[in-house]
Amino acid sequence: MTLDIGWIHVATSPTKIQRICDVRHLSQSVPQKQTLRNCESERLTIGRCHTVWETVASNVKDVRRGFTKARILTGTYMVQALKSKYSMGKQSATCRLCNTEDEDLYHMMFKCAALQSARNPSLGKFIQVVTSHLGTDGWIRLSKDDKMKLLVDCQLLVNSGYLPDDPGLIHRLETKSRYLCYNLHCKRIVLLNNSYIKMKCV
Ligand SMILES: [Zn+2]
Repeated sequence: MTLDIGWIHVATSPTKIQRICDVRHLSQSVPQKQTLRNCESERLTIGRCHTVWETVASNVKDVRRGFTKARILTGTYMVQALKSKYSMGKQSATCRLCNTEDEDLYHMMFKCAALQSARNPSLGKFIQVVTSHLGTDGWIRLSKDDKMKLLVDCQLLVNSGYLPDDPGLIHRLETKSRYLCYNLHCKRIVLLNNSYIKMKCV
């Protein structure tokens, strides 16, 4: 197979090119990847921005927030549980900030007491947007998995009928979620750096 890219002619295997160009293949492979379980795949199309990037404002700080959110969306944000998995258990999965349980994304987003001061204001604003559509009971009734989906990629809950397909609502949820994720990330980094400095000083 020969690809004509301007003046460059590239000979390559048809299988590889077909796989890259086959959006259906891309969409079908996402649900099979554990790290992408909170990423909505039905609307994945080449040439279309994911909501994470569609809603980012054109300033440096918001782009930073977008990068943190994108790492969380793609399952590449390095919490202790992931470090433990990749090190085959050589590193502990226990949260280094509170030492009470394994640090997975749910622990970081909703539970870790050490991140409470960074979490409360941003999570409150996020929940406010959710409850304006679902009511307080609706938020309370959501399972742990659904809360994570809502926070990481709210389009998943639109697909499952929990939320209306309202672009304004999706934009507001994504923006509040991006702020929450970034605030927690910054606080976490500061606390981890402080504990590392203390360890070196002992
Ligand atoms: Zn913790």
